[in-house]
Amino acid sequence: MPNSRLWPIVLLVLFFCLLVIGIALLFKTAWITVLLTALVLLVSALIIISSIRASRDITILSKISVPKKPDDNILACKLLTEIDLAPGDKKSLAMKASEVLREKFQLERFAVFFKENDKYVLRVYSGLNKGDLAIPAANKFSPSLVENIQTGALSNNESDYQLAFKRTGFNFESSTVAFAYSWGKTRSVYLVGDDPKGRFSEVAKDLEFNRIFWPGLENDLKLNQKLYERGQENRELTQLLEQAKRDVSELNNELKNRLLDLKAFVKISNDLYSLFDETELFSRLKKTVCEKLGAVSAQILVPSGDGHFIPAGEAEQSETILSLDSDSELAELLSQSARPVLLPLAGTGYKHDEPFLRAALGANFQIASSIKADGKPACILLVSQKMDKTQYTSLELDFLYIISNIASLALDNIHQYSTIEKLSYTDSMTQIYNYRYFYKRLSEEVLRAKRYDRELALVILDIDNFKSFNDNYGHQAGDLVLRQLSDLITKTIRSIDVVSRYGGEEFCIIMPDTGIGDCETFIERLRCQIADFKFESELFPQGGKISVSVGGAVYPHYASMPDRLIYCADMALLKAKSLGRNRAVMYEPEAPVDSKSMEGGFNESHQESIL
Ligand code: GH3
Ligand code: MG
Ligand code: MG
Repeated sequence: MPNSRLWPIVLLVLFFCLLVIGIALLFKTAWITVLLTALVLLVSALIIISSIRASRDITILSKISVPKKPDDNILACKLLTEIDLAPGDKKSLAMKASEVLREKFQLERFAVFFKENDKYVLRVYSGLNKGDLAIPAANKFSPSLVENIQTGALSNNESDYQLAFKRTGFNFESSTVAFAYSWGKTRSVYLVGDDPKGRFSEVAKDLEFNRIFWPGLENDLKLNQKLYERGQENRELTQLLEQAKRDVSELNNELKNRLLDLKAFVKISNDLYSLFDETELFSRLKKTVCEKLGAVSAQILVPSGDGHFIPAGEAEQSETILSLDSDSELAELLSQSARPVLLPLAGTGYKHDEPFLRAALGANFQIASSIKADGKPACILLVSQKMDKTQYTSLELDFLYIISNIASLALDNIHQYSTIEKLSYTDSMTQIYNYRYFYKRLSEEVLRAKRYDRELALVILDIDNFKSFNDNYGHQAGDLVLRQLSDLITKTIRSIDVVSRYGGEEFCIIMPDTGIGDCETFIERLRCQIADFKFESELFPQGGKISVSVGGAVYPHYASMPDRLIYCADMALLKAKSLGRNRAVMYEPEAPVDSKSMEGGFNESHQESIL
């Protein structure tokens, strides 16, 4: 049915129709009458259709039908005007509307949903907790609801929309009032709430109110929505900014950590490079790895000399039986890989290494890293699981890689140092120890003998008439004799004895745990062996023969200090010479004593000859 506003228009059209028919009858012109009547009816129909279409744009539903009160209508319109007139007011129209709905119309509890297409959005509510409000799902409204709203065909009792709103979670006991106002077919607004006094229901019947109120509210809410979305964008941007700040701060921390790492690496490098002993290096390396990676333990495998890598150090060796073949697949993998390797699980194809892998994994070792010297695998560092039982990160493997490299360089360093040290302690002609080493070792051995209350013998021997030998066969022949004599003495002594070239054609032998009797026996045996030995060289085809004079002295008898021991042995040697050479003599107190030698401790001329 057309709206009541259409009746005047309809009456006006009928009046004109009658007027035209009257004029046509007056002039008795039938065709003009028919034409004019048709024209008027056409215009009337167009007007009526457009009016109906305009009226369908606004549909108001109300449960309660109450005569309108113009005051409230004015109030509602004024509301919008007031808001328009208050540019400084920060409250949105939605908020004002909310206040008005609550205060002026005394809607204690209400909620307004806007629907655009199939999406319902809760916009304004009061007296309700947001958690109580369920957004109506599109499928909870019966298809006829919107249509009925638009056509105004909803019945007031048990209407679809009431049922639908009930299903949304509202539980208004009585006086539930619901309004639907639609714009076209896709957009509408719904209000549900209490209206105990029926004031809003009354006002909402008014077209003017609805024409102004709902679209105004919707526009405002749209604006709010835009502002909200803008705010949301801002919030997202702020979040991004915060995230960026956090990232930067994390990067800073990482940078700081890396700097700390660098400092730690510098410290570790300095520590490891300052070592000149392999055992000390291994022990420091294991300690560092455990500290920095939080590993329970670490182990270093070194070549055993018979084609295996075995734990370095006797203690560890007894703790864990680990033996890896030097030519095994794992050893090959380690020698080729620059980076630490996670130990492959036993039974994963490393058949040759099964026993080793079982032992290593059984002892909770997880990583193996190769430590090289001179570019070749020198030993293997095994690292156990972490104390907190977490997995090793790639950063920690990087750390291990760097530490292994530092250890490799430190090992190179130690090897070079030991080569230089060996050179500095070796007599270049005979390849036995020189006086420098002899004196250092003698001091150590005297201390050890003192500490363990042991005897220590020192033997000094001098080739007899060597000057004549040189004169007869030349110095090169003399050199050959010195070399062969060194070999002969080396073969004659025990493995714990130390032979050195004292200087010129003189040699000395440090003999730990040797008393006077044993020393005496030894020096005589040595003298005989040398006297019987046939030195061979093209330079003396008939075969060279030499003899030596030997002197021996024993700590702690007559000498408690290294210098005094040298002096005593030297005095015994002098006595052997004075007795006619080719003699072996033990030091005795009645031996001729040179007061100068006693003060100086030992023969200075020997030192000078080698320095
Ligand atoms: P004595 O029995 O008293 O020890 O007589 P000697 O000739 O061995 O003793 P002397 O101290 O008079 O001479 C030592 C000689 O040893 C002189 C030197 O030519 C020789 N000599 C020392 N060092 C070397 C060396 O490195 N090579 C050679 N060929 N001869 C050396
Ligand atoms: Mg001499
Ligand atoms: Mg001599």
